Amino acid sequence: MGVEPVDAASVSAVLHLFDTAQGKTVPFETREPGKVSMYVCGPTVYGPPHLGHGRFSLVFDVLRRYLEWSGYEVRYVSNITDIDDKIIDRAQREQRPWQDITTRCETIWYKAMDGIGVKRPTVAPHATEYVEQMVALIAELLASGKAYETSDGVYLDCSTVEGYGLLARQSIDSLQAGARVEGSDEKRNPIDFALWKKAKPGEPTWPAPWGDGRPGWHTECVVMSLDQLGEGFDLHGGGQDLMFPHHENERAQAVAVGKAFARHWAHNGFVEIDGEKMSKSLGNFTNLLDLLERHDGRAYRMLVLRSHYRSPIEVTETTITDAERSLDRLDAFARRVSGLGLDGAPPDEDALGAFRTAMDDDLNTPGALDQLFRAVRAANTALDAEDDATAAGLAAAVRAMCVAVGLTLQEEEVAGPPPEVLLLAEQRAEARAAKDFAAADRIRGRLGELGWLVEDSPQGPLLRRKA
Ligand SMILES: [Zn+2]
Repeated sequence: MGVEPVDAASVSAVLHLFDTAQGKTVPFETREPGKVSMYVCGPTVYGPPHLGHGRFSLVFDVLRRYLEWSGYEVRYVSNITDIDDKIIDRAQREQRPWQDITTRCETIWYKAMDGIGVKRPTVAPHATEYVEQMVALIAELLASGKAYETSDGVYLDCSTVEGYGLLARQSIDSLQAGARVEGSDEKRNPIDFALWKKAKPGEPTWPAPWGDGRPGWHTECVVMSLDQLGEGFDLHGGGQDLMFPHHENERAQAVAVGKAFARHWAHNGFVEIDGEKMSKSLGNFTNLLDLLERHDGRAYRMLVLRSHYRSPIEVTETTITDAERSLDRLDAFARRVSGLGLDGAPPDEDALGAFRTAMDDDLNTPGALDQLFRAVRAANTALDAEDDATAAGLAAAVRAMCVAVGLTLQEEEVAGPPPEVLLLAEQRAEARAAKDFAAADRIRGRLGELGWLVEDSPQGPLLRRKA
């Protein structure tokens, strides 16, 4: 099966997405017709990517691919945070230059992203390339009196920001009451956050009028997203854990300088490992590269697709193996139809329409997968009945749906059938040639017991693993 996108220019359905800021599902209306500008917070490069990184990357990769498949031109920006406390801590602990850590971790990041089939961003800006612009933003905030200097940095006065708490979906008063006091005790409000951190000895620094130092994380993303995508860009996304304070604080800075920020906010749910929420504070990191060593890289995408993006997912040997079984069924189908000369048929519109309806409903990927597997079953039934015309349309629809969600199917059996199975298949072919169909059926039964299905194609018998 090829991976070329279908001509989806005629797609007229409207994608609806849950908007975190509005707390409801709304039509996804773009700033410019036919174009989507999206920003997804990328990694802080100080360690290997974990499963939570894998999930947000896959969720937004699926959204991006679906939009592209639907005919949009997508500008996908995802940053690399290459300056941060955690990077500095690790560099100091290991007595290495911090750039060593960030460069190496970035390479590993993209290796993992390639492993799970995540497309590279259109642009991947590095925070360190934007420090001058960050200094300019902070200067503007200071000049307007919305930011203030302390002995250890520059802070935003959150009480000056209209609508602060929008993404947290809490009032500023309740946020203040619940805030853990971090940073300077000279802060005006407990929730005020550092725009700039003045340098401590031995730390990497950049020049600024109020004292050399480095930008705060929330300042990095607001500057990079606005620079790369412009005011009022279409969508800002990330994991649920970024909603507050990171995204709230990005937005606060944009609001404070009077700039229109993201039109839509989308956040994906947590990854649970054996029932526990995976988060930095629990320290239960599970490395994405470990998963890639043990499993088909496509299995994590399949697992992510099987749950709604806003729900938590559980990653265990069982759920990943189940996802692999689903993939086997799709691969088996791809093998069955490859070489049948069914290519080129227009996709079955009913199947594709049902798939779109699910995807347009807040990216209901479990529903979309139901439609995908329904089409596979219907195509298999049509092939069994030698109804090639119906099968061809359904196969084309399956191919298109897989492209839309970024699933690549394997037409070739990766590990071939064992010799015992091949011998039985040969004996069955001989029995059929001799028109001893009873013997052929007995052998088919024996193959089934061994976990193999045999299918007769114009090219001869095909073996596939039972799904
Ligand atoms: Zn960010």
